[in-house]
Amino acid sequence: MDFSLDPDQQALRDSVRRMAISRFGPKAYTWEDRDEYPWENARVLAEQGLTGMVLPEEDGGHAIPLLDALIVLEEITRVCPHTADVLQAANFGAIRVLGQFGTPDLKLKVLPEILAGDAIITAGMTEPEAGSSLTDLRTTARIDGGEVVINGSKTFNSNAPHAKYFVVWVRFGPKSSHIGAVLVERGAPGFQVGNPQRYMSGEAFSMLYFDDCRVPIQNVILDGDGFRRQMQIFNVERLGNATRALALAQHAFDLAVAHALERRQFDRPIAEFQGIQWKVADMKMKLDASRLLIYRAATELDENGNPLLINTSMAKAFTNQAAFEVASEALQIFGGYGYSKEYPLEYILRRVRGWMIAGGSVEMQKNKIAEEVFGRRFPQRPVRV
Ligand SMILES: Cc1cc2nc3c(=O)[nH]c(=O)nc-3n(C[C@H](O)[C@H](O)[C@H](O)COP(=O)(O)OP(=O)(O)OC[C@H]3O[C@@H](n4cnc5c(N)ncnc54)[C@H](O)[C@@H]3O)c2cc1C
Repeated sequence: MDFSLDPDQQALRDSVRRMAISRFGPKAYTWEDRDEYPWENARVLAEQGLTGMVLPEEDGGHAIPLLDALIVLEEITRVCPHTADVLQAANFGAIRVLGQFGTPDLKLKVLPEILAGDAIITAGMTEPEAGSSLTDLRTTARIDGGEVVINGSKTFNSNAPHAKYFVVWVRFGPKSSHIGAVLVERGAPGFQVGNPQRYMSGEAFSMLYFDDCRVPIQNVILDGDGFRRQMQIFNVERLGNATRALALAQHAFDLAVAHALERRQFDRPIAEFQGIQWKVADMKMKLDASRLLIYRAATELDENGNPLLINTSMAKAFTNQAAFEVASEALQIFGGYGYSKEYPLEYILRRVRGWMIAGGSVEMQKNKIAEEVFGRRFPQRPVRV
């Protein structure tokens, strides 16, 4: 068993890091204050062949291994987390649902724009009354002649203020097996994107409203068994989430180590205090363990090329927690400077916190892990008598 990256992967990592530093470094960490979406960087990603990395070539993708794509994501996140948001949307999220289940015509209509960095696509899953228990979603879809009519609402739709395409999880009937997905384009009749709101990280999201929204029947991506089938793909999104958490925690760690060597108190570098050394040792173990769990999840794939649920849940839950702890300790090592806006530590801490909730919370991942360990399902709903 070889735990190191092969020479091609190392070369990929190094060249992406150099490119990210030169192209994205100068404006990194300024996007939030300027309240701008990094469209210019979306086009650079497209130019560099970094959109649709894991999509098949017939869809305009590059069909590179998932692990290689995550290496790219890690490097870009370390340099510019906002550009990494674009990279995530153009590779690991709703785009893969469209890529795997959309009809050739639908893909031909939508994918080229996204892969060129001219549009983004988001996933509308969560509803006000359906978060962790996503199968409770109430947004309905019914076929009416050549159209689909959608009614309901979604919340926490990340990137919605900037998105053109929305993969909306809907139900075609009362059962979980009736859940499917429909592509809705901004401007569709009866579809409204709510006012922009902000997460604690500064990222923008909106509510989505569907009031007899009508889209062509060709926009149906899945009309049944959609929950199970989309969830398999969603493991890729979750590994993207974990990788970005790891990357930001690694960046915080690197800054903290450099600071500990430079900052002097009591007439010596603070790195010479055992209290700091043990923090750094714990942080290093958490980062390495996270990386190994992510790499394993990205290499042990099922017959459709998707990561296994158990590996993904372990990688995501562990890394989400580890990243928050590492970021918090890095901030602590910086003292008051870490808590100031002068350094990115406070942003990193705010940012990694969100990934403990997004994409299936840490608790929900642990539920999955426990089911695997005990070899049985633990239904979360109350028993009805
Ligand atoms: C940064 C960010 C980005 C997001 N982006 C998107 C997006 O683009 N599209 C989208 O559709 N959604 C998005 N979401 C929403 C996200 O998927 C939900 O917030 C998440 O699934 C949790 O749902 P909830 O907020 O309704 O919390 P709830 O489900 O109400 O959970 C509240 C708390 O209870 C815990 N809990 C619930 N059930 C159980 C259980 N059975 N066992 C143990 N603990 C439990 C949860 O872990 C959580 O701590 C995003 C969220 C965040 C924070």
